[in-house]
Amino acid sequence: DLAMGDAKQQGRNTWHWYKGDEQRATEEAVRLRHDLHYALQHEQFELYYQPIVDAVSGRTRGLEALVRWHHPERGMISPGVFIPLAEQTGQIIPLGRWVLMRACQDAAVMQAANMRMVPVAVNISSLQFRREGFIEDVLQVLDETKLPSEFLELEVTESVLLDGAEKAIALINQLKDIGIRVALDDFGTGFSSLSYLRDLPIHKIKLDRAFIQDIVSDRNNAAIVQGVITMAHHMGLVVVAEGIEAPEQQQDLVRRCCDLLQGFLFARPMPRDAILSLPDVLPSE
Ligand code: C2E
Ligand code: CA
Ligand code: CA
Ligand code: CA
Repeated sequence: DLAMGDAKQQGRNTWHWYKGDEQRATEEAVRLRHDLHYALQHEQFELYYQPIVDAVSGRTRGLEALVRWHHPERGMISPGVFIPLAEQTGQIIPLGRWVLMRACQDAAVMQAANMRMVPVAVNISSLQFRREGFIEDVLQVLDETKLPSEFLELEVTESVLLDGAEKAIALINQLKDIGIRVALDDFGTGFSSLSYLRDLPIHKIKLDRAFIQDIVSDRNNAAIVQGVITMAHHMGLVVVAEGIEAPEQQQDLVRRCCDLLQGFLFARPMPRDAILSLPDVLPSE
């Protein structure tokens, strides 16, 4: 049977390609890990900032810091690629500390530029978050940059619960005492049950882009999003939806009473100096 033969042949070729790709990917990862070490010592990183806006008015209410790696030969490498590698090697610890320091320095510069100040949210890897001395690091950075704690927010994912909820709860409470709010990132993509939401003293949740993508066409996704927003509001939490690309998505989320939105529809992540010239964060008269 000809058709079958073709399929088999194709299948075999696909398998060979796949194996080749996988090996290449491994070699690539080994190289990148090595380059990461060098990059840390030679400041090849930069922080970009993406506005988080009020769902109704579209005015900037916050900024999320997103790290960028300018690789000397490969150009810009996505954090989606190198953050997981840095987590595997432990390099996320010095990298994460650099990100925190730079974000607070930049926030202090924005404050000095007399901008209508909005908080800057920094992504914290679970490894970094649960590590001994994290709170002390945060305090030291705030002290060194003279940034009031209310202008720093931290974004963590539910993997902070990996060593058990108690530790995460204690850490988030400590941050709360300092005046730093914590957001639960990538909400809905993880493994946990909803019950941990009840226990974590977080301030907001960020609904993952996966739920937002086809919110207009997929009734099930829309139902989940509506359920989460309603539940979160009953718990006194603020809801941010990520990855808004179309006006219909904004309209849908406004109708569902989502508080804040983030996505290319409003602004892409951009360097600090571009943020400084955004019309709605300029000094108010
Ligand atoms: P995340 O924390 O969920 O960040 C949001 C990601 O969505 C960012 O990707 C952002 O550029 C992207 N995004 C925003 N709006 C849209 C949109 O409308 N459409 C689409 N398609 N994407 C949108 P980015 O900057 O590539 O970062 C990827 C991930 O890398 C982040 O996901 C976060 O998990 C991690 N990451 C980035 N910076 C840091 C950092 O400084 N520290 C740590 N630990 N992780 C970081
Ligand atoms: Ca985030
Ligand atoms: Ca996210
Ligand atoms: Ca994400």
